[in-house]
Amino acid sequence: MSSPLFLNVEAVFFDLDDTLCQYWEAARAGLFRAFEKEGPSGFTAEDMVQLWAKAFREFLKEVNHPDWYSKYLKTGESTRTEQMRRTLAEAGCADEDRARRLSETYMRERDSRLRLFDDSLEVLNTLKPKFRLGLITNGPADVQRQEVRTLGIESYFAAILIEGEMGEGKPKLSVFRRAERRVECAPEKTLFVGNSYAHDIRPAIEAGWRTAWIRRPTDVPPSAGPGGSAVEAKPADAPNPDAEINNLLELLPMLGC
Ligand SMILES: [Mg+2]
Repeated sequence: MSSPLFLNVEAVFFDLDDTLCQYWEAARAGLFRAFEKEGPSGFTAEDMVQLWAKAFREFLKEVNHPDWYSKYLKTGESTRTEQMRRTLAEAGCADEDRARRLSETYMRERDSRLRLFDDSLEVLNTLKPKFRLGLITNGPADVQRQEVRTLGIESYFAAILIEGEMGEGKPKLSVFRRAERRVECAPEKTLFVGNSYAHDIRPAIEAGWRTAWIRRPTDVPPSAGPGGSAVEAKPADAPNPDAEINNLLELLPMLGC
């Protein structure tokens, strides 16, 4: 029998959204519900989600500006409400109170729908006694902490690294160095499992880690718009991950479990 692909690995880090939990599905359903409940008259929820996606693609270009980024790190509220303000402006019905209600309803509806994928708990339970496990997730401190609480997974991890708490996020190399120090593991003995080539896989390869790229069929952001591409492509000249998987259970034999 050939030896497992990740024979020497001692620590396994996971991305959270769309790797362990179905974030985009929850976000899409939460948006629809928010616009059904609180959206302006004369527009279907579908119309409003399309306008939200358009506004999102525009806003994304500005969020890394220091003015927005410093707010975004602490709490999801300011950028989420601004996003709703811009969506209502796109619809020609700017309304500050409605923007606040939409933001609040969207967050609540999204959080109530967050679920781990069917394979996640079995994999975490199998790996926990044998490996140091960690989580590296981008996003505001409050939103990401709430997600971890809602999903009930905190106790699985020796290290949880959140962009909002660190003041920096993936794909920065320094994030991966922090993670190595937290679990006291050499890069070549550390595995990263994530769904984004650009944010998870490429920087982990550059950090000298082993990598498994998970590509799930549900991995389509609401901002992709109609006919949006289902899977993120790897740039032609970019390095390959050690493994591409569709389900986390595929990791177990690779880790000798
Ligand atoms: Mg992700």
